[in-house]
Amino acid sequence: MEFKDATLPEIEAAVREAHVAFLSYKNLNGKKKGEFLRAIADEIEALGNSLIQTAMQETNLPEARVVSERGRTTGHCRMFAQLVEEGSWVDARIDSAQPHRVPAPRPDLRKMLVPLGPVVVFGAANFPLAYSTAGGDTASALAAGCSVIVKAHPAHAGTSELVASAIRKAMIQTGMPQGVFQHLHGAGFEAGQALVKHPLAKAVGFTGSLTGGRALFDLANQRPEPIPVFAEMSSINPVYLLPESLAKNFEKTALLLANSVTQGVGQFCTNPGLMIAVDNDDLKKYIKRLGEEIIKTPAGTMLHQGIANNYHKRMAESLAQKGVSIEAQATDAGNNRQGRATVVSVSAKDFLKNPLLAEEVFGPFSLIVKCADVNELNLLAARQHGQLTSSIIGEEAEIEKFQSLLNLLREKAGRLIINGVPTGVEVVPSQNHGGPYPSTTDSRFTAVGTDAIKRFVRPVAFQNFPNSLLPSELKNENPLNVFRLIDGNWTRDQVK
Ligand code: NAP
Repeated sequence: MEFKDATLPEIEAAVREAHVAFLSYKNLNGKKKGEFLRAIADEIEALGNSLIQTAMQETNLPEARVVSERGRTTGHCRMFAQLVEEGSWVDARIDSAQPHRVPAPRPDLRKMLVPLGPVVVFGAANFPLAYSTAGGDTASALAAGCSVIVKAHPAHAGTSELVASAIRKAMIQTGMPQGVFQHLHGAGFEAGQALVKHPLAKAVGFTGSLTGGRALFDLANQRPEPIPVFAEMSSINPVYLLPESLAKNFEKTALLLANSVTQGVGQFCTNPGLMIAVDNDDLKKYIKRLGEEIIKTPAGTMLHQGIANNYHKRMAESLAQKGVSIEAQATDAGNNRQGRATVVSVSAKDFLKNPLLAEEVFGPFSLIVKCADVNELNLLAARQHGQLTSSIIGEEAEIEKFQSLLNLLREKAGRLIINGVPTGVEVVPSQNHGGPYPSTTDSRFTAVGTDAIKRFVRPVAFQNFPNSLLPSELKNENPLNVFRLIDGNWTRDQVK
């Protein structure tokens, strides 16, 4: 189905409506926002099979994946509902007045988090549900009390339209201010850029390419009033294969990594695009076993032609670099929208001399870097760019000998994994899905888990406010029963 691109006047109207809606939505209590988020989840489920079929047809993802992504989407809507219904996330702090303090009296100071304003969300190509119209960015922004303007990804515009219809129904059912959620199409950069530049837009959520994310980040920073852009962009998620463990477990490790590299035709931001190990006979055995698995993986249809073209182009570039050789490659299905699994290798010396090899090849592709010794492996780690994840495969006793590596990786990645692969992102409060540039534009925040809400809020302090004028969370009597830091103690008590 064809969807009409939003015109500039339509974009202007959408942002204005989102701004007006924000002015009342921001004051709704957690119970009301929770009802809205739960209704969104219910209405997405009520779309039933038509949503699943549309997403499958637009993205070529298999049914099981789309069904599980729908579960993840409704799951995070309900998770944020629970968070805001409970209410303590606003991080309320109260420091009571000390009128008799010498040499100067202390005023009454109270602080909490408040929403930023209208948030522009770009649907992601690789998650038509969980990172798109009602994805983690939208759900966390709505939970925070922000209105949202979604720019649908053209690769799954029909899926996006269906989810938008569910959100609109939920708005009506729960009496939300009209305009709190806006949905626009635009198969070109104009719509997205106009949204980011709009003076009433206050933040941006994005998942996609480094080029796209960086362009939008720069645009937002060139505005007369710069705004934050939370862009998740490019990560090759290095996996460090420690020598003793590889000697013992080369087979098990090869199966684990082969599955992770090829899962979902490699179209995950957490795909392990880099494996780093000391070059020896155990590594040869590992590569042989990994290759056997890679070769037998059927080529899969990629999400859209642009992603497939990009995969083929980036892989060809990588293969043309000095010292790079193919270790294993699945059969070419002869269809240019398919991505065949490929594992290549290069020496650490050639890798270190060639920055292009450290760039993401988005798809079922991984580069093995062969190090002369452990020192070279450590040097490679020191030269890594920021990543969403870094993994170490090794037994506890062996990893203890690599304390400096572990210490270094903490500076490089947002999630450190021992004896596991980066794919498979749990949606729980302790998750961190973010990392230093270029994996994201702001490593201080996560895009997954309850803390994702913190991207779309800012602190406000209220000094010497009479009790009647304070927000409920900061009133003396604690009517919402939230946890608060009162004069140094975390408590649900009233102010004495
Ligand atoms: P993309 O090209 O970055 O596009 C994502 C969204 O941002 C689209 O809606 C696009 O608009 C918009 N956009 C991109 N650049 C823009 C600009 N300069 N100004 C305004 N809007 C802009 O990503 P994609 O289409 O999803 O996939 C392309 C490549 O991105 C992939 O091949 C892959 O390399 C990478 N990617 C990475 C991840 C990851 O998690 N690391 C995820 C998905 C994709 P239009 O659609 O209108 O062009």
